[in-house]
Amino acid sequence: MKFLVPVIMILNMILPIQAQHPGLGNPQVHHISEDIYAVTSLYHSHPGGWTNSGIIFTENTVVFIDCGMTEASARFLWKTASQRMQGNETIYLILTHGHSDHIFGMNVLKEKGATVIAHHLMVDFLKQSRDTYKSFMIERLGWSDEKGDDIFGAVVLSLPDQVITQDTILAIDGEELHVLVTPGHTETQLAVYEPGTRTLFASDAIYEGMDPTTRFGGPQDWRIWIKQLERLKKMDIEVICPGHGYLCNTDEIDRNIAYLRGYYNGYQYGTDGTEEHWH
Ligand SMILES: [Zn+2]
Repeated sequence: MKFLVPVIMILNMILPIQAQHPGLGNPQVHHISEDIYAVTSLYHSHPGGWTNSGIIFTENTVVFIDCGMTEASARFLWKTASQRMQGNETIYLILTHGHSDHIFGMNVLKEKGATVIAHHLMVDFLKQSRDTYKSFMIERLGWSDEKGDDIFGAVVLSLPDQVITQDTILAIDGEELHVLVTPGHTETQLAVYEPGTRTLFASDAIYEGMDPTTRFGGPQDWRIWIKQLERLKKMDIEVICPGHGYLCNTDEIDRNIAYLRGYYNGYQYGTDGTEEHWH
């Protein structure tokens, strides 16, 4: 028995990080530059799925772009950021849309004093859903309440402090951050462009290596989505942090456009078996 403790300690050291908290995933921090981080492979309830996030540092400010699907994910983001913070920074959290996999961790950052920025339609969305969204997801996933608490955490959703109604340039410590209104996946969709490194945090406007999720809208939304991707394609972009998948480049915009065009046409003409949804 005296060997048991060391064995357990070694196991703890070699177990993958996700085994240490079921709601963390396997987060990878990518330093796009000294001040721009992309965090990929945070927990997602879809088996094999991950969700992404961003952290941007300016002189006296830290901007988080989304906060993961769980409080464990948001705590990881905070821990990652706080390793290089002084402790007196202004904190912003930009929510790119209202889906659980991008907002459920928000209270962790709110408690750190984050000012939450989101599309103006998020106000009504959150007013309607914030008290029931966690239980809705638990039921949809077929989980027990206990499992929901274990994985998601408490999930306290609050209304945005500032809203975006159109493309907006945030001036932060003399630097620019472009918040772009990019509807399609949802009506409330935002993307964030950092001109210094030409990084686009695209959120779910762009899916890397997988089909975009179209089920939250209809044909009109997909047409708008394609138009938004066409305008993103014209921008000077070096690296894209998509909502899901790996970091990528503008080739993924073309692939997403091609998929959505095919999907739209198939839907419209009933060639992909989905015509029963058409009207
Ligand atoms: Zn998503």
